[in-house]
Amino acid sequence: MYKASVKQWNPFCGCNFKCVYCTTSFQAQVKRYSNAINPKTGKRNCPKCSSWTPHNHPERLDEYLPITKKGEFIFVCSNGDISFCPTPYLKQILKRIDEKPDRTFLLQSKNPITFNRIKSIPDNLILGTTIETNRDALAKKVSKAPKVSKRFEDFLKVKHHMKMITIEPVLEFDINTMLEWCMKVKPVMIWMGYDSKKKLEGEPTLTLLRELRRRLNSLRFNVILKTVRQK
Ligand code: SF4
Repeated sequence: MYKASVKQWNPFCGCNFKCVYCTTSFQAQVKRYSNAINPKTGKRNCPKCSSWTPHNHPERLDEYLPITKKGEFIFVCSNGDISFCPTPYLKQILKRIDEKPDRTFLLQSKNPITFNRIKSIPDNLILGTTIETNRDALAKKVSKAPKVSKRFEDFLKVKHHMKMITIEPVLEFDINTMLEWCMKVKPVMIWMGYDSKKKLEGEPTLTLLRELRRRLNSLRFNVILKTVRQK
């Protein structure tokens, strides 16, 4: 998760992209909670959360949302991908975001063309996508989400002033293509790092990762390093 995230707000949960690294991290955490028996009802908290099935949690739409400071955000639908969220319900989530202009929110999807469903993107919303690598064949080995080249092209088409790119869990890449993609998208922040749980096949060397960071920094991008380790 992101250290800039002050709250994870999950009025919608679940995803069918089946990223291999999700099962051991996000899904494992959510399963522990959702499989627990609620003492008030005597039932499991949420079987759909446990199975990562896309579903709405309308009772969370009115949840308390803290005010964010500069550089902070509320991570919306962190337990899933909003491309599986029905459009009428997505509109309700966006309405709440729009009503809180003194908070900044992040909405992230591995299918960024889905952002074009939002007719009027709130100014206080950061839109993000994950680009683990520029190489489609490598990304295909870890996720059933759209190809990374398509994610880049689709994200480029989204007209918005606050975009974010996550290069995590990073896989081997071609540095010039990664730089070119970032320069075209112009993200306000870039997160990068290895998988936080285990080594994935096809990770780049730390030297290459640091070189990408150095060159992004020299282009004045705001780069935040997450998990790093020697290969
Ligand atoms: S796209 Fe996100 S939520 Fe969906 S499986 Fe991958 S990491 Fe998990």
